[in-house]
Amino acid sequence: MLDSFDMLILAAALAAFATGFRRRVRLLSAGAPGGAMGSPWPRLWGMARDAFLHGRVIRDRVPGFLHLMLFIGFVLPLCAVILAASGARLPVFIAGPVSLMLDAAGIAALCAIAWFAWRRYVSKPAHVDRKSEDWVLIALVAGIILSGYCVEGFRFARTGADPLWSPAGFVLGRALAAIFQDSGFLSAASAWTWKFHFASAMLALGLAPYTKLWHAAAVPLNVLLKDGRGPGVFTKPDLEDENAEEFGVSRVLRYSWKDLLDLDSCMRCGRCEAGCPAHLTEKPLSPKKLVQSLRAEWLKKAAAAGEDGKPAEEDTDLIETVVTRDVLWACTNCRYCEEQCPAMIRHVDKISEIRRNLVLMASDFPKELRDTFKNVENNGNPWGVGFSARADWCGPAGVKVLEAGGEADVLYWVGCAGSFDDRNKKISAAMARILGAAGVSFGVMGTDESCCGDPARKTGNEYLFQMQAAQNVENLKARKFRLIMTQCPHCLNMLKREYPQFGGDFEVVSHVEFLDRLIREGKIRLGRFEERFKRICYHDSCFLGRYNGVYLEPRRLLGAAAPSAAMVEADRSKSKSFCCGAGGGRMWLEERIGKRINLDRFDQISAKNPDLVATACPYCLTMMQDAAKDRGKEETVRTLDIAEIVAGLMQ
Ligand code: SF4
Ligand code: SF4
Repeated sequence: MLDSFDMLILAAALAAFATGFRRRVRLLSAGAPGGAMGSPWPRLWGMARDAFLHGRVIRDRVPGFLHLMLFIGFVLPLCAVILAASGARLPVFIAGPVSLMLDAAGIAALCAIAWFAWRRYVSKPAHVDRKSEDWVLIALVAGIILSGYCVEGFRFARTGADPLWSPAGFVLGRALAAIFQDSGFLSAASAWTWKFHFASAMLALGLAPYTKLWHAAAVPLNVLLKDGRGPGVFTKPDLEDENAEEFGVSRVLRYSWKDLLDLDSCMRCGRCEAGCPAHLTEKPLSPKKLVQSLRAEWLKKAAAAGEDGKPAEEDTDLIETVVTRDVLWACTNCRYCEEQCPAMIRHVDKISEIRRNLVLMASDFPKELRDTFKNVENNGNPWGVGFSARADWCGPAGVKVLEAGGEADVLYWVGCAGSFDDRNKKISAAMARILGAAGVSFGVMGTDESCCGDPARKTGNEYLFQMQAAQNVENLKARKFRLIMTQCPHCLNMLKREYPQFGGDFEVVSHVEFLDRLIREGKIRLGRFEERFKRICYHDSCFLGRYNGVYLEPRRLLGAAAPSAAMVEADRSKSKSFCCGAGGGRMWLEERIGKRINLDRFDQISAKNPDLVATACPYCLTMMQDAAKDRGKEETVRTLDIAEIVAGLMQ
């Protein structure tokens, strides 16, 4: 039971926690409205899985598992302290197993603390930084757990412990009993170590809202309140809204409170940075530093805001004060950071909102984009080829153009690359051949198909994107079909996940998913693989993999198409794959800073000695092919889309 001194400490800790919590809520409420809610049950399950059970953290096996150990080893004894302080006693039959669990959890947590301290201060991986509060918190948590053992040890030294249910306490108790034989001393030591243990636990509670310990509360909250838009889907501003002061975000308090909660949840683990293609190729962008800079700006500006949340001082623009243009335009929107972030922070949203503001409010964007925007606006494609040439490849390939009112089982969405780029037109022809041979009823929209809007939306030109999306949805709705199939993952992502914002609810699949289905249903038969290629490496497209979860089908297709070839994986693959460098509008921008991302990626793949790099995205194909040329390996390392491989083997 707690005495009056303990009660005083408890009251002080609770008061400090409540004051800090209230302050954080006030700081968050300085943000704009936002954050989509929905059914609570999936949210609660998501919080249990991804935050409490460490579903995300554990993806990084060693640090993830050890963090889980630390979490369990901290939370369980904390519950035991509360139980002991309240004077409650567990029934005898479960007291033993619970005691054993606490014993084991404490040891595991101490091992985890030792490993984290070693990593932070001895091994020092590049993505893990050090702040002075870190070692204080490490020492505090270690002190709480160690003092807990001492409390038990002194008690067991007097009373004896069950070696089965309290092995650590038993060993410690025997050791203490051997050293200190005076039972009066043991009794006093037990009481004082309890005081120390309780006071240090209360210190951690009181400090939580003011230190990095806050992540233990902020992360579960952030996961619970996660935006219902789905990963990677951008917000849709109402561009007709005459009362809107601005579009996008120019100042930190224009972010929604949920965006600010994102910033507040960052624990500086550096996982986002460890695979960021921009960061690893020496661009000035680091997703961790971006989040930390925005967080510092938010804390400064929100603290200065009045009770009504209105900035007390003239709020300054983020661009070039907190985020430079070089940082902003370096992002490929690959979502590596978001996929790895244990706090489920949406980094790409933060970047896209600033890009959107610059483009829509100030016409401020890299000069290369002027042509891209003009080309999409005038010709419905970023290449700038006349729009009337979109279906030119169809005649020679014998492909039917589905006019408005027409009907087919499959609407083949070709995409701009497959329609206008000579290299990618070969993939369209290969797809047409496969679909024809499989007896699929399909058609294309010809000149009624226009750029899906990905280059515009990803580079902040929301106005152009919304025009493209509205026009495409209207044209799609004018035809009857069961599903849309496309060979471009950027189009796939737009049509499947962003067009529902415009009333376009279609079933959309990628060409690799569709081909995989055709092979498994026996609708296409593949001839003998001639062993032209001995080692094949598949490069994951970010928009197929991380955005849409398609990892298995391309690998299964390659396995079926080339059974005698060895399938090799790059060190970075699947959800941890490395971007080709063309996403987020980077396809249309010069790469002036650092190393070229496509060369870095090609080198990672080349290290596995493949003779074929298989892709499933027109951008990836272009980037890998350019890199192979640049490295002088065009003849020894071929680059092909999976559809070309399949079409080449069809009987
Ligand atoms: S989306 Fe990709 S490029 Fe952009 S910050 Fe995240 S990891 Fe880096
Ligand atoms: S943004 Fe996420 S992954 Fe990056 S440092 Fe913060 S918590 Fe870690």
